[in-house]
Amino acid sequence: QDEHFKKVISHAKEYGYIFPSSEIYDGLSAVYDYAQNGAELKKNIREYWWKAMVQMHENIVGIDAAIFMHPTTWKASGHVDAFNDPLIDNKDSKKRYRADVLVEDYAAKIEAKIDKEVAKAEKRFGETFDKEQFLATNGRVKDYQEKADTILKRLGRSLEKEDLADVKALIEELGIADPETGSKNWTDVKQFNLMFGTKLGASADSAMDLYLRPETAQGIFVNFLNVQKTGRMKIPFGIAQTGKAFRNEIVARQFIFRQREFEQMEMQFFVRPGEQKKWYDSWKENRMKWHLSLGMGEENYRFHDHEKLAHYADAATDIEFKFPFGFKELEGIHSRTDFDLSKHEEFSGKKLQYFDPELNESYVPYVVETSIGLDRMFLAVFSNSLQDEELENGTSRIVLKIPAVLAPYKAAVLPLVKKDGLPEIARKIVDDLKWDFMVKYDDKDAVGRRYRRQDAAGTPFCITVDHQTLEDHTVTMRHRDTMEQQRVAIEELRGIVLKETDM
Ligand code: ATP
Repeated sequence: QDEHFKKVISHAKEYGYIFPSSEIYDGLSAVYDYAQNGAELKKNIREYWWKAMVQMHENIVGIDAAIFMHPTTWKASGHVDAFNDPLIDNKDSKKRYRADVLVEDYAAKIEAKIDKEVAKAEKRFGETFDKEQFLATNGRVKDYQEKADTILKRLGRSLEKEDLADVKALIEELGIADPETGSKNWTDVKQFNLMFGTKLGASADSAMDLYLRPETAQGIFVNFLNVQKTGRMKIPFGIAQTGKAFRNEIVARQFIFRQREFEQMEMQFFVRPGEQKKWYDSWKENRMKWHLSLGMGEENYRFHDHEKLAHYADAATDIEFKFPFGFKELEGIHSRTDFDLSKHEEFSGKKLQYFDPELNESYVPYVVETSIGLDRMFLAVFSNSLQDEELENGTSRIVLKIPAVLAPYKAAVLPLVKKDGLPEIARKIVDDLKWDFMVKYDDKDAVGRRYRRQDAAGTPFCITVDHQTLEDHTVTMRHRDTMEQQRVAIEELRGIVLKETDM
């Protein structure tokens, strides 16, 4: 698994998806730049989300709020006082960790152990086991399971002050060691605020302390009434937004999974008080469907319902994805009650209420939120798509099976040879198709190598112009995933590619 993750990182660089930031200065820890193909993939994921959330829902509209917000926003939202992560230091190694992540990683290791045991037993007995059944009958493995369960139950995502001692106790009880040095000599768990501060204005006395937003959601809440009134929105309705968020993560790591600067795609859905459960369930289902629509394998997703809830939530779940380093949060769905809007009423002194014509009364709406990290989604797509395939003829190929709707380039056009008028025809095809989708021309190396190169870059179609094209205006169309080739008329190309790749 580590091997696969290393390949993901190096492939992302080699094929122009992700570069370390400011690489000529040796990079900046855990900061990355999206390269020529990465920027396209990222844009396509964003668009795929936007279409599903905004375009397909008459009652959801999108906004693009500023990154800077009035500083009182973050007092009202609770971020100034409580947007903390639990930090723990190892006294021997002086290494710093996020305490809950330390415990979670430990739980993931136990899970991996269970999977290994199941696989071992399956090999030995030559039959497949249902994991649950296997656990029920296998004492040793059941112990692991119970340990993992204890951990996950006792660990909420937003820890209150009194929980910190609990987390420390749990780390000691489980004997969790510093993953790098093995030392078990831990300090107490402290809170660490994740917001980046900065200053607005030039003169020292008039300068205002600002924060870089740690989530996009607040830009939606403060605009709730503006959007509702100008858009004549009727509850239930939603406001969506994508954009950068910043968190001074204690340990940023795992490539683009946890960064200090990242992008979120969030939607806040405003509902009648009392109806939040219904909408929470419905958005849970809707969001999972969105993920499954990409065809990246049902077995790679699961819900993780939170037992321990943040103070503002009355229900919360994560959609977890099987990343190369195990199941981890990809998206959060939270029933946030009327917490945010009420707080903004309190701190701004302005009413943020909706007059419900059907009930003939005003109220502060309840909110159900769906929040997904664009970079995490990118990593999910990229790591899942990268495959080292054994072929029937005994050779192998590296292929990036990015869902065709998300692929950066939809097609590459290849003249078989660089003569006899074939390049001219290929150029003409590119010029025709580029109005509708990203397409590139490639005439370097033998055609077999070009196919491999496009496979590894994730291009779903290769269109080859050969001598037969001169006679009958047909070309060879090769499909990335199946490597099947078909002969099609040049005029049909646009339709075929669009059918497979258009959102
Ligand atoms: P985690 O527990 O992994 O830190 P979180 O529960 O704090 O995540 P939320 O505040 O719910 O995350 O943010 C919503 C989404 O934003 C997450 O599901 C994730 O996809 C993304 N996200 C959060 N923090 C980061 C980060 N540091 N880098 C990249 N994406 C992030």
